[in-house]
Amino acid sequence: MNKKGRLVLFSGPSGVGKDTLLDILLKKRPEIRHSVSITTRKKRENEVDGVDYFFISRDRFENMIDNNGVLEYTQYGVNLYGTPKEPIDNWLSEGETVILKIEVHGAENIKKMYPEESVAIFIMPPSIEVLEQRLRNRGTENEEDLIRRMEIATSEIEKSVDYDYIIVNDNLESAANEVIKILDN
Ligand code: 5GP
Repeated sequence: MNKKGRLVLFSGPSGVGKDTLLDILLKKRPEIRHSVSITTRKKRENEVDGVDYFFISRDRFENMIDNNGVLEYTQYGVNLYGTPKEPIDNWLSEGETVILKIEVHGAENIKKMYPEESVAIFIMPPSIEVLEQRLRNRGTENEEDLIRRMEIATSEIEKSVDYDYIIVNDNLESAANEVIKILDN
């Protein structure tokens, strides 16, 4: 019998440390597949096209939607973000564990599509003040974007009650270990 694939939905407000956590996780569990999303957002300096995201134009994004190439997508701030469909279909049929970094609406949609396969984990900041400080220290957003991200953060935190697990990220290593414990169970 085929092993059933799993979708790990990894959400949390901007600046909470999802990317760093994901890096640690993928190093500790290299067999986990990472679904690389498409986005119309501009690449940050430390990001690599094809690794962090596929950075594409709005035209190409819309083209992929029209061609049924996107499993789900959403607008976050002024940009579009979406999950390419084909790799997810393939990995699930191969019984792989796939991790998706995804905001709350996307996670809700995927959970509806794959109720059996999905495990939803919300990464929570120790406090809203710490979150804002982390986002400011990161220095990747202008003030307008930062304020928008903090507004989105508040509504995302309200949605965290719908998640299967909530992990507070006050220490990266122990947060990563908590995620691994969930995956190993
Ligand atoms: P950022 O610009 O900080 O990289 O991402 C902004 C938000 O978009 C984050 O909450 C991130 O998890 C979310 N996101 C990234 N990729 C996807 C995706 O494919 N689908 C959805 N719905 N959200 C995504």
